[in-house]
Amino acid sequence: MNVSELFGSYVFNDAVMRERLPEETYFALKKAVKGGKSLDITVANTVATAMKDWAVSKGATHYTHWFQPMTGITAEKHDSFISPVGDGTVIMEFSGKELIKGESDASSFPSGGLRATFEARGYTAWDPTSYAFIKDNTLCIPTAFYSYGGHALDKKTPLLRSMELLNTQALRILRLFGNTNSERVITTVGAEQEYFLVDKELFNKRKDLVFTGRTLFGARPPKGQEMNDHYFGAIRPRVAEFMKDLDTELWKLGVLAKTEHNEAAPAQHEIAPIFSDTNTATDHNQITMEILKNVAERHGMKCLLHEKPFAGMNGSGKHNNWSIATDTGINLLEPGKSPHENAQFLLFLCSVIKAVDEYQDLLRLSIASAGNDHRLGSNEAPPAIISIFLGDELTGILEAIDSGSRYSNKENADMEIGVHVLPHFPKDTTDRNRTSPFAFTGNKFEFRMLGSSLSISGPNIILNTIIAEQLEQFADVLENADDFTSELNTLIRKTIREHKRIIFNGNGYDDAWVKEAEKRGLLNIKTTPEALDRYIDDKNIELFTKHRIFTKEEIFSRLDILYDNYCHTVSIEALTMIDMAKKDIIPSILKYEEHLAKLVEIKQEKIGILPEPEKTVLSKLSKLCKDIYDGTEYLEKTVASARSITDKKELSFCYKDNVIPAMETLRKSADEAETLLGTEYLPYPTYEDLLFGV
Ligand code: ADP
Ligand code: MG
Repeated sequence: MNVSELFGSYVFNDAVMRERLPEETYFALKKAVKGGKSLDITVANTVATAMKDWAVSKGATHYTHWFQPMTGITAEKHDSFISPVGDGTVIMEFSGKELIKGESDASSFPSGGLRATFEARGYTAWDPTSYAFIKDNTLCIPTAFYSYGGHALDKKTPLLRSMELLNTQALRILRLFGNTNSERVITTVGAEQEYFLVDKELFNKRKDLVFTGRTLFGARPPKGQEMNDHYFGAIRPRVAEFMKDLDTELWKLGVLAKTEHNEAAPAQHEIAPIFSDTNTATDHNQITMEILKNVAERHGMKCLLHEKPFAGMNGSGKHNNWSIATDTGINLLEPGKSPHENAQFLLFLCSVIKAVDEYQDLLRLSIASAGNDHRLGSNEAPPAIISIFLGDELTGILEAIDSGSRYSNKENADMEIGVHVLPHFPKDTTDRNRTSPFAFTGNKFEFRMLGSSLSISGPNIILNTIIAEQLEQFADVLENADDFTSELNTLIRKTIREHKRIIFNGNGYDDAWVKEAEKRGLLNIKTTPEALDRYIDDKNIELFTKHRIFTKEEIFSRLDILYDNYCHTVSIEALTMIDMAKKDIIPSILKYEEHLAKLVEIKQEKIGILPEPEKTVLSKLSKLCKDIYDGTEYLEKTVASARSITDKKELSFCYKDNVIPAMETLRKSADEAETLLGTEYLPYPTYEDLLFGV
């Protein structure tokens, strides 16, 4: 395999454009992309034709506007390139108009009330900042998706808006530090993705996996992840084949898949890409999730992207590595070497610290989902409290700046420091802290609370917006300063002093931290229903509308969709449990009971010996079976009572407070019964089968 030839071979990337577009078209396109300007139709026509010719040469027959509605997955509507010429034959055609704008029936996508039923049209608009690519013989054109009234109906539009905002504000700061040559500031993201692989045949035997993506029943296997032997263990041959294929497919699509390894739980793995700009990283993560599933399927497996497919095992998350960089290649979160760079680094660092402290609620809600609720706060994932890990060195430096005291470490003798004089500090050895939800890892922040199935768009919209807000405030002050240096000193000191409560370098899994965080006044929002309506807090509406990230209508519509997602998810899970209990679990138990009862009779009456242990097992199972039956009935009742609630917030609380506990009670009896059933009586493949079956 020639990787460098393979890489990006299905992408209409810069190299292909340079080769296939006339020079003036190429530069017109570049200019439009850079300046965020719309494209002249003659230029668009030329680009469209070149794109089509290239796609057809690669075997494509169709094209689609590829977009990211608020469902969490991507959507496509395929059109073929064919165009009749009147004599019964066709030619392959694709116009600039078709490239730039599409019309789509928006009624099949959630709009949260933005799309009145009489106005079902939605539009897609080409995003030339993300390359088109070919998938399944279809040219996929990344697009934004919006309503007839111009409201964003997708995840890309607000992300692009937030990147633009951050660009504007960060450039103001750079100019203040005398940087005149950077023309753009972008945010960069590398999203590490965790997932499970299970055998497809086993998967298909479980309704819970098929309908909800996670197991709703299942006793713990005798061996779990206690031994931790999976992490750096050899990758099993079947999985190795899968990973090889996965890399190939991703590379063809220009996804910079870099690292593949096993994770802590059996059957759990991770894929990490090399970082890119946030828009591309978001598109690529969506593609990665899709390709993961497709390639698994080809290898007779199913890829589980659920946040918590197995109770008692590690869940799957996604780490959003985030930084800010200039178009000239400077990472603005890289500690500097010169005094000048140091001060600039500290200011950007302060913007993150202040943003995370002031908008803990938005960060928390940006990763809230029914699936992630099972993961956050349990002992393998970051707690639901937002805090920042900076490492002891950097924290020590900030403290010294705050208090105006002297500072020393192993490498530096006792020294006077200020914003312009930072000691050289080694990359902190404790940056391996895995318990922090938001960790500084030397030259980027790693936001670790994301669930594995989540689009990374939401959290990055929030990060970009809340940090841009701080940069704007800083720039407002500094641009008007009489004495830049002294104003800068004051600003950095003040920010550290007012927001240092958000910094926590200790063990986030420790109970003591929960108490400490409460003392510091930090939020601890444990579940999705409790998080969601922070969206419409005055301060947050103000933030979003002021910066034109969301209109007020867009915020309310998104909130509506989030409530729906939560309620639908729990409702489907509850109904699946009821179905499995009635049709699979109870009948299996009864069958085994029947077998045992017969044995009891034979032993007792025909042979005249004590029918043990049959009687003991029988009575235990009999009791559990009744519990399961009662539990099912009770769950049915709670689900029915939810049906009468029309207010979405109230409904989400009903699911959280009534339905989920009823599900847990039912599960407990069923899992206990499972441990008493003989293998041949088990209603479906067990955890053991699933986790060790690949
Ligand atoms: P580890 O987490 O094992 O220390 P790395 O720090 O090398 O590994 O990278 C983890 C992830 O962070 C990778 O996806 C990488 O591409 C990404 N990353 C590295 N630098 C940046 C950056 N400046 N901006 C965004 N993501 C980055
Ligand atoms: Mg990591």
